[in-house]
Amino acid sequence: MPERKIELIGPGFKIHSVTGSNPKIIEAEYVGPVACPGCEGTELRTKDRILRRLHHASLGRSATRLHLTVRKYHCRRCGRYFRPRMPGILPYRRSTEQFRRQVYLDHRDGISREQLRRNCRIGTATVERWFHDHLELKERMFSGRECPEVLGIDEHFFSKKNGYVTTFCDLKKHRVFELALGRSEKALEPFLKGLKGRERVKVVCIDLSGSYRAIVRKYFPNARIVADRFHVVRTVLRHFLATWKQLDPDGRANRGLLSLMRRHASKLRPDQKLRLNRYLDAHPAVRILYEAKESLCALLNIKHRTKKQCQPLIRRLVNWIWKLRYSGFPAMETLAETLDNWSSEIACMWRFTKNNGITEGFHTKMEVIQRRAYGFKNFTNYRLRVIVMCG
Ligand SMILES: [Zn+2]
Repeated sequence: MPERKIELIGPGFKIHSVTGSNPKIIEAEYVGPVACPGCEGTELRTKDRILRRLHHASLGRSATRLHLTVRKYHCRRCGRYFRPRMPGILPYRRSTEQFRRQVYLDHRDGISREQLRRNCRIGTATVERWFHDHLELKERMFSGRECPEVLGIDEHFFSKKNGYVTTFCDLKKHRVFELALGRSEKALEPFLKGLKGRERVKVVCIDLSGSYRAIVRKYFPNARIVADRFHVVRTVLRHFLATWKQLDPDGRANRGLLSLMRRHASKLRPDQKLRLNRYLDAHPAVRILYEAKESLCALLNIKHRTKKQCQPLIRRLVNWIWKLRYSGFPAMETLAETLDNWSSEIACMWRFTKNNGITEGFHTKMEVIQRRAYGFKNFTNYRLRVIVMCG
């Protein structure tokens, strides 16, 4: 456990002694200002002294207990009996707020409930409950936010029972904005209707999914749709690999060759280039296919262009669609249809630099969160955790 400096919650506490090693026992007394909660009077009489035993933030690895002497008062003005409110300790709680926060931070940073149970001597259910309390507290700070100007929409699998989750990311600030269950328009409708500031959204980045396109057109009236480069290139690759399989099934089944064929030519080492060239020399038809893939991907990877600069690129894309459509390979024909269907969104891609690569990174992070909690079953808990940690 990382060592944290212990602070006895404020100036109002007087420490009498620190004894023991595990647990370490701090004997202290509250001597801070006291006022009657009823009339705010300060003419008080000490009625009694009681001992409160509290869990407190650890010094190093050992558990710490705070044995706090608290007075019980009688207000002379209104006659009320009460115990003083102390900073950092809530009434009826058996742990200080500092300790709860420490448990939250440790659990967030990856220390398991079981480890915390042993170190801090509290139950695993308590760890979970405190953790959840803190997340809810943080989430309240995020709720009611308005939609960001540049939005990325993407899906990922959640669970067998609940299916897919749609992630809405703020691509300008690199944060997860919201999470919603489902990926169809029907499933997302109530969520979308409740979103604040939908008209503010200027750019939405999506994968080549018809249902997301319909959603953006309907619910984000002022947004321009941009195809996500990552997904476009992946789609192109998939269709080229299918055609390769048709040309040379043995070559496609070779794992080493597959990895060489997929990668960008500029990312190959000299020895890998040599190997790939030897294969392509023996299969001239595959070479033509490979060179076509490299050329098309290079076109799709172009960024930061002005509207005028996009004109020749659009002509090149139209040319490609025509070539693929009449190539005689079924997979290439399907690809031509897809590119044709998404040509305006792809043209936008050349002008914008934002892409869902950022969103993809978040999905990796969410997978980590999911694995740490041994798979969330409950979407509400999952959403809470992702929003607080990636938001
Ligand atoms: Zn009073």
